[in-house]
Amino acid sequence: MATPIKDVILKENAPVTILFDKHIEFLRDYGKDDNNFEFGMTDYLRVSGMYWGLTALELLDQTHSSPQEEIVTYIKNCQDPETGGISACLGHDPHLLHTLSGVQILAMYDRLDAIDVEAVVKYVKSLQQPDGSFTGDKWGEVDTRFSFCAVATLSLLKRLDAVDVDNAVKFVESCMNFDGGFGSRPLSESHAGLIYCCLGFLSITHRLDLVKRDVLAWWLCERQLPSGGLNGRPEKLPDVCYSWWVLSSLTILGRLHWISGEKLKKFILACQDTETGGFADRPGDVPDPYHTVFGLAALSLLGQAEIKNVNPTYCMPQHVIDSMQLSPQILRD
Ligand SMILES: [Zn+2]
Repeated sequence: MATPIKDVILKENAPVTILFDKHIEFLRDYGKDDNNFEFGMTDYLRVSGMYWGLTALELLDQTHSSPQEEIVTYIKNCQDPETGGISACLGHDPHLLHTLSGVQILAMYDRLDAIDVEAVVKYVKSLQQPDGSFTGDKWGEVDTRFSFCAVATLSLLKRLDAVDVDNAVKFVESCMNFDGGFGSRPLSESHAGLIYCCLGFLSITHRLDLVKRDVLAWWLCERQLPSGGLNGRPEKLPDVCYSWWVLSSLTILGRLHWISGEKLKKFILACQDTETGGFADRPGDVPDPYHTVFGLAALSLLGQAEIKNVNPTYCMPQHVIDSMQLSPQILRD
């Protein structure tokens, strides 16, 4: 007997339009228990959290309402004077994930001058291993996520030349599986989040020629469930953040039309919280900025009119990528 598909059922009264004003309220108030934006944001969210919240606000055309100077100063203070990396919050060790988030925020604000760029470059370079892979910090965990973070950070700083790109490409290529997908390391299971990281990496390094385009696109469209939502791996429940990882991957591959955009849109809109605003992973769950930015970004890729265009490779507003004259590779027919 076939095992039943794990999925969710959308309620009749689920929201079908975007709750624009509610989301703005949600993003502005998230984590605040004082009138100080920095206090609330950093206590609960740290630098990557700031990136999710601020990108979501920017996609809703509301960045002007964020305390820009406060945020820039905060990131500047999170840059470790010794290694050059950026930490999650003051007093923590730097990490590549937060280094990318910090650089993304400053790029959005056009304030990369606020940090010591050469020190960031030196930090990223120090994390590359002899096999081309990257660790996330000095503790040495290797993961293809960090290959993406490294080239995304360096390309935003216009210093991709600082690392051995050919060797980095070889490592990512060695993580490709028979199904066309990618895992965190060689021989690791394919996973939509890591597929996005590897495709993003190959998009930035202009090496999408290495990808098994249609085999991978097929695996990605099989992530769509009857509810319209997308999961990250076979046998898993749908989740709004996977709408982003899968959809951006299909966009990079030029195969966005291989899934039902209408059904997916319906699923994402049903994950909005009608009372507080924000998006949750699944309908009825508690919303958070992480699922909110990826819900909005996915709706942007699906052509939702009220949301600014997002770049599928960087998950940043397209106008920022254009003004920085970056042109990550995208496959088109
Ligand atoms: Zn999720």
